[in-house]
Amino acid sequence: MPTPTLPAISPLTQPFWDAAAQGRLMLPRCNACGRHFFRPEVACTHCFATDWQWVQASGRGSLYSYSIVHKAPAPGFVVPLVLAVVELEEGPFMFSNVVGCAHAEVHIGMHLQVQFDEVAPGIHLPRFHPSKA
Ligand SMILES: [Zn+2]
Repeated sequence: MPTPTLPAISPLTQPFWDAAAQGRLMLPRCNACGRHFFRPEVACTHCFATDWQWVQASGRGSLYSYSIVHKAPAPGFVVPLVLAVVELEEGPFMFSNVVGCAHAEVHIGMHLQVQFDEVAPGIHLPRFHPSKA
């Protein structure tokens, strides 16, 4: 199996990946307006304040949109896969995958729970599986 395309980890995103390796989903939350945002940016994407901190998210969300991908976009992807936009309980949207169910069962609005899959040494990707409400 070729090595999959791996995330580029920067000082800005390092805390996210460190927590992922421990099975925790972290989101930036603004100290000025109190809202969560994702991806991490230097400034809050809602009010542009630079005062924000990492907080642990619930890991729950719902499926906002998805596509079933049949042609691998790069070496290392196992197709078909479900490319998903997950609306997190805290508000932000996250690109990920839906796993753990038949593709025919995937539907908009389904309840999801995060899981972390180690795809390379030390790299744990957040993916989502179906959950009860
Ligand atoms: Zn803000």
